[in-house]
Amino acid sequence: MLLIESKAVLRRRRFHRQKAHLVLSALRHRAAELGEQALFVQADTYSEALAQVDEPLTVCGPTSRAAAEFVQGLDEVTVLPSRGFATSRDHFEEWADGRGKSSLLMESFYRNVRSVTGTLMDGNQPAGGQWNLDKENREPPPSAGELTLPAPYRPKEDGIDAEVRADLDAAERRGEVSFVGRDGPRQFPATRAEARRALKHFITHRLPAFGPYEDAMLAGNPTMSHSTLSAAMNLGLLDPMECAHAAETAWRKGRVPLRSAEGYIRQLIGWRDYMWHTYWHFGPKYRRRNALRARRRLPDWFAALDADSVHAHCLSSVLRDVRDRGWTHHIPRLMILGNYGLQRGWNPAELSDWFHRCFVDGYEWVMAANVIGMSQYADGGAITTKPYAAGGAYINRMSDFCHDCVYRPTARSGDDACPYTAGYWWFLARNEERLAGNWRLAPQLRNLRRIQDLDKVVAREHSRHRP
Ligand SMILES: Cc1cc2nc3c(=O)[nH]c(=O)nc-3n(C[C@H](O)[C@H](O)[C@H](O)COP(=O)(O)OP(=O)(O)OC[C@H]3O[C@@H](n4cnc5c(N)ncnc54)[C@H](O)[C@@H]3O)c2cc1C
Repeated sequence: MLLIESKAVLRRRRFHRQKAHLVLSALRHRAAELGEQALFVQADTYSEALAQVDEPLTVCGPTSRAAAEFVQGLDEVTVLPSRGFATSRDHFEEWADGRGKSSLLMESFYRNVRSVTGTLMDGNQPAGGQWNLDKENREPPPSAGELTLPAPYRPKEDGIDAEVRADLDAAERRGEVSFVGRDGPRQFPATRAEARRALKHFITHRLPAFGPYEDAMLAGNPTMSHSTLSAAMNLGLLDPMECAHAAETAWRKGRVPLRSAEGYIRQLIGWRDYMWHTYWHFGPKYRRRNALRARRRLPDWFAALDADSVHAHCLSSVLRDVRDRGWTHHIPRLMILGNYGLQRGWNPAELSDWFHRCFVDGYEWVMAANVIGMSQYADGGAITTKPYAAGGAYINRMSDFCHDCVYRPTARSGDDACPYTAGYWWFLARNEERLAGNWRLAPQLRNLRRIQDLDKVVAREHSRHRP
């Protein structure tokens, strides 16, 4: 087994410190586990490392286009299909072909994956009689203190982590690398054994509450009932099918409700596989799409994760979570961070790069459909029927952030105007023509014209520096 640690990778981008730590820790733990079975090369670049090997190699299909092109261009290297997903790329392409002119709906793909893998199925019928229990889920949060779940599994650091920390500190001191975010004890699995323990802990203690509160946010409880296993899965320490089987088994044994098992399985073999396949399916130009012509640069406070300088309680809390651990759950990513960028007209490619660098589970393939498509609507609606833009009313309904905020979610003008509420109208006003044909936005676009102080709201939001 050849393992390569390339210094150039960390120099190229300003990653979150904890992400750099996690990736190096996982790689070095694997090298230690394999012992003499592995050749572990620490080099500047992959090419330099490969120059030290003169045997034919086999590599699993990498997860980015650039890396795939790199390995395909090497002599004496056989590229195998990629691993770590429920379905193959051929399977997705066949399914997409079969859709003809219909759009590539995630829900249809998810049902197809359930059927072909037999996951949560009774014969050819969905177990429990329904494919989708989303209507029962998506509840607002319980009051703080009511969701009494054990905290997620946390690994214990060891000598390898200490070595990684010392190496990163030294590289930073020498000015070779620079990071965003804060360092802190490693929070996510770096070995297969840790990942298995984390999965078991999640299925036993946290999955039962996953369904109902999937979309809810609480200021004092950033993880809620989420698994926090995405980084382990993206590192190849867990397979999505083993996680799905564990959830299904827990339901069949009566330990978790169907709404939780189904909700979790949908994320794993539905959304995750769909995001992976669409990265390849939509081609290399997709990541540069910018249907709403959003050209503003990311402000410095956002780029630097300067949470303390932000007044809006929701954005400040979520930015703090990113700064302190490089992770937040799905709804803060989509409805607090992404929604803010969308409303302000930030450049989608730049925002995508920010998510890639600042999250412990961020990789190029995850960015395409999640950031460019779903969050920024930069593909003009190839995967969503309307932009995920929402005002303070949504945030107020789905979280407890607004109770303790200097802004009022109902106010769109005045000193206490909620930046999300006012930002929502600014977004619609700016994109009115581009969105005119979207039937799902028709009522909001009609309301837009009824707002008497719209010009004032737009002018104020246009010049808002920091929320
Ligand atoms: C703007 C934006 C950026 C995102 N960036 C990333 C990213 O860099 N890396 C990443 O893995 N996920 C990303 N996601 C998807 C999702 O937010 C995370 O997978 C999830 O929050 C990770 O936390 P968890 O493991 O507790 O997830 P859970 O809520 O427990 O979900 C279960 C699993 O489903 C998978 N999953 C669920 N939704 C998605 C999705 N939309 N795309 C891919 N996998 C999904 C993850 O592997 C996750 O572990 C992003 C979503 C948005 C809207």
